[in-house]
Amino acid sequence: MAERTLHGTGATPRSGVGTVVWYGRDISLPDPDDVEVEPEPESQRFADAVDTARAELESEREATAERVGEDEAAVFDAHIQFLEDPTIEEAVETMIGEGHPAPNAVDAAFGEHIEQFEGMDGRMAERADDLRDVRDRLLRLLTDGERVDLGDLPDGSVVLAERLTPSDTAQLDPERVAGFATVTGGRTSHASIFARSLALPAVVGVGEALDTVEDGTAVVIDGDSGEVLVAPDDSERAAAASDSGAAVVDASVETTDGRHVEVAANIGQPAELKPAVDRGADGVGLYRTEFLFLDRETPPSEDEQYEAIRETLDMFPDGRVVVRTLDIGGDKQIPYLDQPDEENPFLGERGIRRSLDPDSDLFATQLRALLRAASDGAGDLAIMFPMVATVTELDAALDALDTAAADIEECDADAVDVEVGVMIETPSAAFMAGELAARVDFLSLGTNDLTQYVMAADRENERVGDLHDPTHPGVLRAIHQTVTAAHAEDAWVGMCGEMAGDPDLTELLVGLGLDELSMSAVTIPEVKTAVRDTEYNTASERADRARLAATRSEVHTTLDT
Ligand code: PEP
Ligand code: MG
Repeated sequence: MAERTLHGTGATPRSGVGTVVWYGRDISLPDPDDVEVEPEPESQRFADAVDTARAELESEREATAERVGEDEAAVFDAHIQFLEDPTIEEAVETMIGEGHPAPNAVDAAFGEHIEQFEGMDGRMAERADDLRDVRDRLLRLLTDGERVDLGDLPDGSVVLAERLTPSDTAQLDPERVAGFATVTGGRTSHASIFARSLALPAVVGVGEALDTVEDGTAVVIDGDSGEVLVAPDDSERAAAASDSGAAVVDASVETTDGRHVEVAANIGQPAELKPAVDRGADGVGLYRTEFLFLDRETPPSEDEQYEAIRETLDMFPDGRVVVRTLDIGGDKQIPYLDQPDEENPFLGERGIRRSLDPDSDLFATQLRALLRAASDGAGDLAIMFPMVATVTELDAALDALDTAAADIEECDADAVDVEVGVMIETPSAAFMAGELAARVDFLSLGTNDLTQYVMAADRENERVGDLHDPTHPGVLRAIHQTVTAAHAEDAWVGMCGEMAGDPDLTELLVGLGLDELSMSAVTIPEVKTAVRDTEYNTASERADRARLAATRSEVHTTLDT
C-alpha cells in the first residue's frame, strides 16, 4: 500500500506513475525591515528583470509555436503585454521610490490586478492566471529562484504545482510527462481541459496536503479516482504504468445488431488533433473555431482560418470534420471584439446572434475560409451553426453561406458542396428540431448548453451542479424530441456536449437514436468499445424507460449506473 493517499478531483480518467518535479515553488519575498533599499539601483534591477523576462518569453514563444502551434504560442504575447503594462510598471516604480524592495513591489502591484481579474467571470478570470505567471517569472528573476523548465523535463516526471496556467500546460510534452497534480483547480479549469484533450493523467484541487510531497518522491496520479498515491507499492505502480485505457479501435464501430455510430473528437486547439487521431477518432464532430480568435489582438484573417481548417482536414482524410462557426458571448469573451457588457451574457448576444450582426464581416470572412478549405484538397468538411433558437436565424445563416459561396465562385474556386448542420443548445431549437432539420443535413446536440437552458442551471456554477446534469429526464426528453423530429426529416443527429464522452452513458445515447458521438480524445476508445457492446433494440427500450422516468435517480436505476 502507498505510504499516503491524497484526494482531489480527477481530471482525466487515466493513471500514471512517475517522479515528482515541483514547479513554481520557492519564491520567498525579502522582509522589507531586513533590507536597505536604494531606489535607483533597485529600479534598475526591476528594469533588468523585465528585459530578461521578455527575452525568456520570446524564446518560449518561438519554441512553443514550433512544437505545439501558433495558437498555443500566442499566450506568450499576452504575457509580454502584461509584462509591459504601463499601469503595473508605474505602480512598481512608485513603491520602489517609496523604499520597497523590487520583489515586494512587483508582488503588490500584480496582486492588485490579479484580484480584479479574479472577480470577473469565465475567460476574463483566466487572465488572473496569466498575470500570476508573469508575476512569478519576475519574482523568480528578482529573488534568484530556480525555474524548472517545463518543456524539458526528464522522462516520467510528474509535475506538482500550486496551479498550472495556460502557458505552463502548453509546454508539457505528453510523451515525456507522466501526469500532473495541482493544489487548486476544478474539472473545468484550463489545466483539466488540456489534460483531457491530451489524455494526460491529472488530479486537480488536492489542497495544501500536496505541498507536503517532496521533489523526487515516486507518486501515482489516478485521474479516475482523483487520488495521488505517495510512495506507491509495486502493484500500485504496475497497475498505473499499464493503464493506457481501453485498446484503441481504429475501425468505425457498430452495435451488435449492426447500427453504425460515428465516434468523433472535439477539437479546441491544434495540439488536440494528434491525440484524436491516435485514439481512433472517426473524424471531428466539433471544431471550436473561437480558439482561433483567442490570445491575440485582431481577428484571424480569412487565410489564417483557411490554413487552420485545412490542417485539420488533412489529418482526417477519410473522416468528416464538423467546423462550428464562431461561438462567442456567454463565458467566451474575446476582448478585442468589443463585446457588449450584458447583465446576463448567457442569455445575450451569443453564437449565431452575434454572427448575424449586420455591422460585422466576421461571419462572411469565416464562411469564405471554410468553403475554400472544403473545396481544396482532401477531407469532408461540414459547417455547423451554434446557439440557434429560431428558424429565421437559420435561414439568415444559410443566406450568408450562399453569399459566401457566390463570392468564392467569382474567385474561380471549385464549386463547393458541404454538409450543413445546426447545434441544438436551446429549448426552442429542440422544440423546433423538425423545422430546423428540414433545412439542413444534420443536428448536433450541445448538451452543455442545452442542459443549462432546459434546467435553468448555470454550467459554471458548482452550487447548481446537481441540476446541471444531462441525465435529468427533462433533458433526456429534449434529446429524444430532437432525434425523433430530425430523423423524420432524414437528417442525422450527433451529440458534442460532454455527455457524449461518458462511456457509462453510451448505451443510453445509442438507445436514444444518436448517429454520432463527439468528445474529448481521452475516452474515444472506451466509447467505441461501449458501442460495440450495445444491442440497439435493448438500448432503445431502456432509453425509453429512462426518459419516461420521473426523477434523475429513477433514470440511473433504469440504466444501472
Ligand atoms: C455544448 O454547449 O454542449 C457545446 C458543445 O458547446 P460549448 O461547450 O462550446 O458551448
Ligand atoms: Mg455550447
